[in-house]
Amino acid sequence: MKIHSLNGYINTLFIAEYEDYLLLLDGGSPADVDLIEKFCTEELNRPVSNIKLAIVSHMHPDHSGAAPILRKKYGTRIAAYKNIDEWYSGSTGWFQHKLDCLMAQIVAVKHKTKIRKVFSKRITGPDYLMSDMEPLPFFNDWRVIYTPGHTSHDIAVFNEGEKILYCGDSIIEVRGRVYLPLPVIFRKKMKHSYRKMGELGAEQILIPHGNCIGSAGSGEIFERMEKLLEEPPNRIRRRVHYFSVWSPEIWKPTIRRLLFQ
Ligand SMILES: [Zn+2]
Repeated sequence: MKIHSLNGYINTLFIAEYEDYLLLLDGGSPADVDLIEKFCTEELNRPVSNIKLAIVSHMHPDHSGAAPILRKKYGTRIAAYKNIDEWYSGSTGWFQHKLDCLMAQIVAVKHKTKIRKVFSKRITGPDYLMSDMEPLPFFNDWRVIYTPGHTSHDIAVFNEGEKILYCGDSIIEVRGRVYLPLPVIFRKKMKHSYRKMGELGAEQILIPHGNCIGSAGSGEIFERMEKLLEEPPNRIRRRVHYFSVWSPEIWKPTIRRLLFQ
């Protein structure tokens, strides 16, 4: 197995190359489809239909936008956590989806000059609804690690044999420094997710927003992430949080608690 990294529209995509098939980590922006197609056909000399599976780590448009397009064009299957389509459901979910697409485009504007399509599908409809610790279909050397915090349904995937962890948006890396994702919606769950990832003993961490971290001491990185959670949020974090609370997965449990407890 060989890992390739592709510099996508907003984040880095990873393709795990196997003899028979390719695994896409993870679902990318709609604007990444051309890049993925070009990479498969020109760099790997393989048909795009070799991408047997794409994981969608969570519903944010830069992680869920390309996979449904690849499924339609090439039959790529999608694996995601089982409650993923609750995130943007209903009218408030619809509103949150538009806000998140807009925020993703603002990130793109900050980094690039040429603006491309970022508006993704609101509902993914995964072919495989995954649970914690379950092996990935077709690629059972990888298993799903349920890592909520940034959203209610984040997953990371871990290759035990190679000690490689794809961590989704749990870690943001800029010039060698690690940061929390924007936003952290569920702080307690995020803390638990960091502890869980730290215990995996990963030697390489693939980070979609940042560079790969090659480290035998990944436990220390996750300890650092846990410490960051204790710091008071700065102005940007607070602002992004206000714009990120419309998913029914956030407000429904609060209403339930208020009514029934
Ligand atoms: Zn995200």
